[in-house]
Amino acid sequence: MTADQRVPERPLLNRRLAEFGTTIFAEMSALAVRTGAINLGQGFPDTDGPEEVREAAVRALRDGRGNQYPPGPGVPELRTAIAAHQRRWYGQLGLDPDPETEVLVTAGATEAITAALLALVEPGDEVIALEPYYDSYAAAIAMAGGTRVPVTLRPDAASGTFRLDLDELRDAVTDRTRLILLNTPHNPTGTVLSREELTAVAELCVERGLLAVTDEVYEHLVYEGEHLPLASFPGMRERTVTISSSGKTFSFTGWKVGWVTATPELVGAVRSAKQFMTYVSAGPFQYAVAEALALPDSYYTGLREDLRAQRDLLSRGLAEAGFGVFQAPGTYFVTTDIRPLGETSGIDFCLALPERCGVVAVPTQVFYDHQEAGAPFVRFAFCKRPQVLADAAVRLKGAAAGG
Ligand SMILES: *Cc1c(COP(=O)(O)O)cnc(C)c1O
Repeated sequence: MTADQRVPERPLLNRRLAEFGTTIFAEMSALAVRTGAINLGQGFPDTDGPEEVREAAVRALRDGRGNQYPPGPGVPELRTAIAAHQRRWYGQLGLDPDPETEVLVTAGATEAITAALLALVEPGDEVIALEPYYDSYAAAIAMAGGTRVPVTLRPDAASGTFRLDLDELRDAVTDRTRLILLNTPHNPTGTVLSREELTAVAELCVERGLLAVTDEVYEHLVYEGEHLPLASFPGMRERTVTISSSGKTFSFTGWKVGWVTATPELVGAVRSAKQFMTYVSAGPFQYAVAEALALPDSYYTGLREDLRAQRDLLSRGLAEAGFGVFQAPGTYFVTTDIRPLGETSGIDFCLALPERCGVVAVPTQVFYDHQEAGAPFVRFAFCKRPQVLADAAVRLKGAAAGG
């Protein structure tokens, strides 16, 4: 064999990504398909969003709007609608972005998060993220060459939710900390950070000169309390990259239309990375999402109330089956503690659950660096039709009774 024919002996996957296998969602969804189980693992709705929004996408396709490369920052109609959305829901808190310079359309929130990290993080910078964290965060921090510094959300008996330990957060900041990557409402725990917690995060960012990147994709799915954008707190506007997406708000998670709002300087930085990732995406869907954002308040209220009822239905079923059930004031997810069932490993439990009772769930341990902190917790998605949730509840009860 000549030197030219030799296969390189180095591992194919580079060191930055070597620790990341297949995402847990792909693994568990494949398990659901293989076993015919009800999939409460991955957070996607089993009913599409509003008919008029789907029709708006069809119209855009037919009218030839967005079938060729849209403008890099996003189509003007959508940027205007995103700016109007921020003003409509958060204008009284002082948010009023300029659609020309302070809005960037992305391929979902996922691309926005990755682009923000690639743009703002130098190799060696530390990035603080709340664990358990959304699974793309760790990989995105790694791709940017950053070091992730997890701060653990801990179960709080008084509120029945997971809460942020502010002392632990303060202690996590070092001279190398570049930014805090914050997700509220929080996936997977369902926690919504309070005004007091966000005030403390904001004060810390200002005091230590940190940037913030906020993932607010569940901003309209808050059942108790309120969603407050971190960018609206004193001193935060000029240091916060605010990220959201149409996927969860309009139940079209396959369209992948997301956005960034921030100062022109921050948007410009994120755009520098984003333009070489996808450049642009989802042309016709951008027009449809522009229409969706302008839906009346009754749409947003209706979505929230439907999901609240679904949350209550599943939470009740899980409690009756013997799970410890945390409150979920926000998101698509309820987190459970399996120790009352005599179980200790969420991973073993979730691998066995499809065979045992025909339900798929996700062990939240995989979203932790401190794996022991997440071992007994299992996440169930309730963004499914009530009948599906009721069926799942019956199955789960059978599994618990059967030991
Ligand atoms: C679903 C989800 C995303 C991904 O949003 P896309 O717009 O589909 O890319 C990002 N962050 C969190 C917390 C999510 O749950």
